[in-house]
Amino acid sequence: MSAPILPGATIGVLGSGQLGRMLAIAARRMGYRVHVYSPERDTPAGQVADREQSAPYEDLDAVRRFAREVSVVTFEFENVPAAAAAAAAEAAPVRPEGRVLHTTQDRAREKRFLASAGLPVPAFDIVEREAGLDAAVARVGTPAVLKTTRFGYDGKGQARIEAPAAARAAWAAVGGGPCVLEAHVDFACEVSVVGARGLEGAVAHYGVVENRHARHILDVTIAPASVPAAVAREAERIACAVLEALDVVGVLCVEMFVTHDGRVLVNELAPRTHNSGHFTIEACATSQFEQQLRAVCGLPLGAVAQRAPAAMANLLGDLWVGGEPRWAAALAVRGVALHLYGKAEARPGRKMGHLTALAPTTEEASRLVLEARAALGAQA
Ligand code: AMP
Repeated sequence: MSAPILPGATIGVLGSGQLGRMLAIAARRMGYRVHVYSPERDTPAGQVADREQSAPYEDLDAVRRFAREVSVVTFEFENVPAAAAAAAAEAAPVRPEGRVLHTTQDRAREKRFLASAGLPVPAFDIVEREAGLDAAVARVGTPAVLKTTRFGYDGKGQARIEAPAAARAAWAAVGGGPCVLEAHVDFACEVSVVGARGLEGAVAHYGVVENRHARHILDVTIAPASVPAAVAREAERIACAVLEALDVVGVLCVEMFVTHDGRVLVNELAPRTHNSGHFTIEACATSQFEQQLRAVCGLPLGAVAQRAPAAMANLLGDLWVGGEPRWAAALAVRGVALHLYGKAEARPGRKMGHLTALAPTTEEASRLVLEARAALGAQA
């Protein structure tokens, strides 16, 4: 058993977006110091960290120097190159290990891992070259979704195939292979479970939440999801199985589809805190960010019980089109908390912040959070 990393120590974070920012806020509240590393400057995480190091992930000497000055290295961005994780590991424990990133940053590897662990996934095939596409479409059937294996998120790098004749156009649209082709799931709803696993193997999760997407980007999370108890148990079982099978130390989110006949299929994994877990900041005794910190520091995991039903709504850059959103109008809605990530430029589709509401019911929480978001854009 290795000694826990205690308050006063320095946490190293690879990646510097909003997830790193909220981790840094949790860490500083608990008396840790935080160093963040990413290629950018004046970043959401860098703004609240003790130190922001700006260098490319490919600069392995800079990564090693960064790791020498911290007690543990963790991630907020899963596309950190494996070589950077390995370089960091020469100087400090890296949690979760680079091996976890290696599995999850490539959709083909991730799908193979899930299937080999016996976890339910939509029918799929790996397509290395265009020549193999027609056979894969014949095996998987249509409608199907073609996804590039690397750097896909929020629906980027994917195209729907309605009929076999449309397969070549989809291949061109995603920019070629290698790709994963998977059956299109006519889901009843999308859910996720955010869970954590400690250094000694303890597992805790925040239960099943429902995620509603708009333009492939998470729009609203409702916690807890209103799904039958058997569906919730299955989704939670899957999340715990993934944490164990990947031997994760840290936080991981499993995104899943629930079919009309009550089956649960894994869509994708994120080996980090997740947008669908932001509600835990207000709703749970231990937020997903504090939980990540506890896990990677070798401390006991915190209590995950939810204090009240919650809803979270994302604030995308589109809200800035008509000028600065009307913050005061949104904050006039009682019970709504505002989080802004400190991003200077509001581009359409860019996650700029989120709102969370707690209420006696999930219906009331979502009504409040949507009312507050609508108020941001309303004319004075
Ligand atoms: P992803 O980037 O794989 O998480 O996909 C983003 C969104 O696209 C998901 O949240 C779904 O709404 C949709 N999607 C992805 N894969 C499928 C699928 N096989 N069937 C139906 N919808 C999908």
